[in-house]
Amino acid sequence: MAAYRVEDWRISLHCKGAREFLKLSVPLRHGRYHEIRTPDLQVQFNLNAEIKYLQGRQRDWPHPAEWLKRTPADDWIYYSVGSYNDVFDLFGEYYFPCLSHDANPFFRHSPFALPAVQETFSALGPVFERIRRLSQADLPKPLRAFFRRAAVANGPAFQRRREDFHRILGEPISILPPDSRHVDYAVIPVIIARGCLYHCGFCRFKTRKPFTPLTKTAIVNQMKGMKAFLGQDLLNYNAVFLGQHDALLAGKTLLLFAAEKAYEIFEIERSYMKKARLFLFGSVDAMLRAEESLFEALNRLPYETCINIGLESLDPKTLDRLKKPVPPERVKEAFLRMLEVNRRYFRIEVTANFVLGKGLPSGHLPSLFELAQNHGNKTFGKGGLYLSPLHRREPKADLLSGFYALKRAFRLPAYIYLTQRL
Ligand code: SF4
Repeated sequence: MAAYRVEDWRISLHCKGAREFLKLSVPLRHGRYHEIRTPDLQVQFNLNAEIKYLQGRQRDWPHPAEWLKRTPADDWIYYSVGSYNDVFDLFGEYYFPCLSHDANPFFRHSPFALPAVQETFSALGPVFERIRRLSQADLPKPLRAFFRRAAVANGPAFQRRREDFHRILGEPISILPPDSRHVDYAVIPVIIARGCLYHCGFCRFKTRKPFTPLTKTAIVNQMKGMKAFLGQDLLNYNAVFLGQHDALLAGKTLLLFAAEKAYEIFEIERSYMKKARLFLFGSVDAMLRAEESLFEALNRLPYETCINIGLESLDPKTLDRLKKPVPPERVKEAFLRMLEVNRRYFRIEVTANFVLGKGLPSGHLPSLFELAQNHGNKTFGKGGLYLSPLHRREPKADLLSGFYALKRAFRLPAYIYLTQRL
């Protein structure tokens, strides 16, 4: 790390953060980054000199352990410690990520509306003006080079970066798997199949496209584009998300090809971050069709693999209401297969999603309780269940009482699904 003092700023280049994604209740940065500390702000930049984290240092900043993060798709996320003590129980993390673009029934007030947060965003304008001035000043070479790169990476440049990011993928990532919370959603996305199988009525993340696997050439081109996009910051990535909604259905050949190519093209072995991870979604049919040899091969890859399956309910009337065209017997079968894969393969974890919501048919919760009480083993630690509020405007008290009743009954770890896009 190199440290400089310029006027009333302290600048540190090439800081070394944690090399693993640790679950801590104190703010700890991971990866390599650059930092500027002004009297009022702490601004951290990725290795492309693009702003990544922001925290106010003024007295009215909401909490010393809270901060803002900017994603590669240029969304801002506010990391809150929450207004109650059970954030970890609910989400499996010590922070609650509040999205600037989406409401969440568990966290109604938007931190983005707080004066201190708005002032912090407003303060960035003068910060970038000074960065532009300093980029022309007579300063040590590494510092001037950093200022030069940072000076052009803001405002309209971020809009262009967002467009480039989505152009490479061919479409935005509408939702990330819940398990990607283990790497703070820092995944390199690569779409290997577009569309999905069921086009369920309740789902707000689907597209109209039929399920269509991509060619190997298209996948490799996407990886090369993504590698160029990430530039020097590639060093900070050790996790890949194979999208979009059902990579498991793409089949053994394409899935393994994409996982291995991603490891090679993204040079994951050279990542600053330890413990490579692979994330993907799977449908009920994909889970039931997947051959044993696919799981055997995934288990041998240099990743820990997390597969998230959308089950939603075991109650026929609820599945009808959700317009999910899968019989409950198949859902149950996929759930049992998930338990089996988790038991059998050390480096694979399959998790499942169920919906939560007032007003669902009366058989929904009993069907989950039946499942909860008769299957799984909490001490085994694998195979978590995620509960997704069906509507963004559900009353929080109802959701919490439903969630905690299930969490107590489940013999598997259970959390709320926090949705994030890229
Ligand atoms: S829940 Fe999954 S399968 Fe159903 S529409 Fe959404 S993405 Fe498609």
